[in-house]
This record gives sequence, structure tokens and C-alpha cells, in this order.
Amino acid sequence: MHASARTSALWHPCTQMYQHDANPVPRITRAKGAYLYLDNGQPVLDGISSWWVNLHGHSHPAINAAITDQLQQFEQVILAGFTHSPIEQLAAKLVDATPAPLTRCFFADSGSAAVEVALKMSLQFWHQTTEQQSGKPERNTFISLENGYHGETLGSLSVTDIPLFSSQYRPLLIQHLRAPTPDLSLKEHDQSDEDFLLQRFVQLKILVEENQQRICAIIVEPLVQGAAGMKMYPPVYLSWLRQLCDEYQIHLILDEIAVGFGRTGTLFAHEQAGICPDFLCLSKGLTAGYLPMSCVMTTDEVYQVFYSPDVAKGFLHSHSFTGNPLAARAALASLAIFEQENTLQKNQQHIQQFKHKLAELGKHPNVANCRQTGMIAAFDLVQPDGLSYPATQQRARLMAQYALQHGLLIRPIGNHVYFIPPYCITADEINQMFEITIHAINWAISQPVATGTHHMLHSGLNLP
Ligand SMILES: *Cc1c(COP(=O)(O)O)cnc(C)c1O
Repeated sequence: MHASARTSALWHPCTQMYQHDANPVPRITRAKGAYLYLDNGQPVLDGISSWWVNLHGHSHPAINAAITDQLQQFEQVILAGFTHSPIEQLAAKLVDATPAPLTRCFFADSGSAAVEVALKMSLQFWHQTTEQQSGKPERNTFISLENGYHGETLGSLSVTDIPLFSSQYRPLLIQHLRAPTPDLSLKEHDQSDEDFLLQRFVQLKILVEENQQRICAIIVEPLVQGAAGMKMYPPVYLSWLRQLCDEYQIHLILDEIAVGFGRTGTLFAHEQAGICPDFLCLSKGLTAGYLPMSCVMTTDEVYQVFYSPDVAKGFLHSHSFTGNPLAARAALASLAIFEQENTLQKNQQHIQQFKHKLAELGKHPNVANCRQTGMIAAFDLVQPDGLSYPATQQRARLMAQYALQHGLLIRPIGNHVYFIPPYCITADEINQMFEITIHAINWAISQPVATGTHHMLHSGLNLP
């Protein structure tokens, strides 16, 4: 029924393969709407949109048709020195969908690559502005947030603060500056949200003041720090961040790779703060989760600094599959669905339902820190009897196993359990998702877990 990892030539991503000896890898044979189907025919509700990428459901007829149509014409063509309608249309659509100052789209092939592009562009911008020719110290540093995640290539990993992913590679990583996270769940009980955020922000401001002359940009995940376990903060922090960047003349890079395309309730998270970044990184939902593609959007001000008779002043960065027409057609079809199906408005009902369901779930003694930003809902699995973190994260793993057996895909990070379903999910399916989750909690809590923390730390970590 299940293929054992031992008999496969595959080395799975973000996986300790050892764990698959005890838990064989489920095999997917088809997917439709909000469901994946296992090789035994069992439907599994995709509670995490297949690693946060799928938007409108699997095998969506309109997206399938767009890709099929493009295949009849051509599948891939070099984008350096050539152009084609799908990618030009997509760039125009993205410019229409974002604040007016964002006028240019640079395409890459993954989220990590988009972050690399934004970092490189920002650095090169500062090097090519006259400011740098007037004897000022060189700008070569970025500020990122504690618990931030921006990808796993070496440049993007340098601004990622998930030690599990980065500590092994420290010799190859560049030291940047790190500011405290505005994650609201760290707030003291007697503290107001505003006080907490301000306290965190002031520390960032001091960091900027002390290093102003060598900072290129601040990079953050707006509203939700995904890979850290869906840690959330309100839009006001982003407004302060924009003001700070303006005041000190540094770039603001918003990594909307996970939260873009409706996840936070609005098409883009920055809309909720009424701000515009200097660089906007998009991927994951860009193609509705169909094909790998990413895009960095930026301003004319940035573009003009690269525009020159001098070849070396251009942005000489490329990926073989940059601007792939199949991916562009999927992205265009996805944006058309947002318009035709009124997706963002329809999601408001899901968002309300999530709110009610989370409030109910929050009464469970093993549930804490219920939080929600639009279509992203999360809670922490806790042990009110005081059992420590290793036990709760191990039980969160057990929860995921139980949920899968009962037809729901979740993938807790540590003891943080979250839902990011495709937007085509129905009210009944949302109810079902929470029902299976409650059963999974009750079952997991009743299970004995190993007490040796050493063993658990090495075999039981719940990866994003
Ligand atoms: C997934 C993700 C990335 C990296 O994207 P890949 O396509 O996996 O390289 C970067 N930033 C954020 C916020 C992400 O969620």
C-alpha cells in the first residue's frame, strides 16, 4: 500500500529520512479541489495547501486549461533578449494589483531566489547611487527579524533566523543585523499590544540609528512569520517600519512569498498597513501553487539606478527558467479567478467561520494562543499539567499522524498547529477540519511519549 522510504531513491526535502522508517511516506495519486487522494483511494483534506502554495484548489479546470493552451504554443523560451505575451501580461497585471510606485517586475524561479534578487538589487542600488561615490562607508548589511524566514539558499538563509536550518552552514553565511520579533504571543499578560509592539519597535529603531550608514534594507515577512510557527503581528508595526525606512533612507523589502495572494484576507498583506515596499517578493501562490515561479516588484527609482549605457550597471542576474510561459499562464489564470469568482470577498465567510471555530477550540485545555490573520489560523498545543515543550511538540506530531489517518493533512511546526487551506474549501469542510483536529488533540494527549529529551530532540522535531 505505502512505498517505504527504504525502497525509494528519493531524498525528501526538509526531512530526517530516519523518521520514515517508522512512518512510511503516503503516496498521492491524484488531487482535486481541496482534496488529495492516497493510493488506497482515501481522500485527505489539504489543510496546508500543499506547503502553502495552492490557492483555488487542486486541478482547477480554468488553470489546467490555460496551461494546456500554452503548451500548444510553446513551453519555454529564453527571457534575456526575448519576450512573450504571457509574461508581459502577468507583469502588467501585477503592477495593476499593487501600489502605484511598484512599476517593475523581475522574475525568478523560487521564493529563495526572489529574496536573493531583492537583496542583490538593494545592495547594488546603494553602490550605484552617487551617495556611495562621496566617501561614505559602504552599505552592505541587512536587518531582518528574529524568527524570520526568507528561504534556504545561502543569501536568503543569511537573513533567516531559524537556527535549525542555518546553524550548520554558519561558515558560509553572512552576518547581518537582527531585530526583535513583534510576535504578539510574546507579550506579557499585563502589557497592551501597543506597548509591546512599541517596545519591540524601539529596539529596531536603535539598531537602525546605530548602523544607519551601512544598512541597505530591512526585510520582513509582513503580518505572519510563517516558518517560525505562524507568529503574528498587526499592521501598525509595518506602518512604523515604513516611516523608519523613509526617515533613515533605507529600503524596505516585504517578503510576501507566503502571505501574498489573499492569505491575510487582502490580496497583499501590506495593503492592511496602507504602505508600499521598495521591494515586494512574491512566489508560492503566484501560480496558484501550480508551477515554480517568483517575482520581485520594485519602483522606478530603483530601476533608474540600473538603467545606464554601462552594461555592468545593469542587474546581471538570471535563472534558466526565468519567466516560464506555462507558469505565467497559470498565474494569469489564477488572477482571473480572483476577479471572476470574487475570491477575496467569498473568503470573508471562511474568515468569520475560522474565527468562531478558533474561539470554540480555544476552550480546550490543551489549546493556547489561538491566533488568526485572514485565511491563516493557528494555535499552540500545550500541557496544562506543565509537561515541557519536547512532549508537546512530540504530541503535535502524533496529532498530525492521527489527522492523516482520519483524512486531514496538517503539519505542525514544533507545538504550533496551523491551518492554511485552499480557498475552495467549503463551510462543511472547515467544520470537518476542526472536528478531526479536536479528536486528534484528544488522542495525542492520551498517548505516552518518550521522556528522554535527548532522543526526542534528535528524532522528533516538527519541521515547517
Ligand atoms: C517559502 C518561503 C520562502 C522560500 O521560498 P522557496 O520557494 O521555498 O524557496 C521565502 N520566504 C517565505 C516567507 C516563505 O514562506
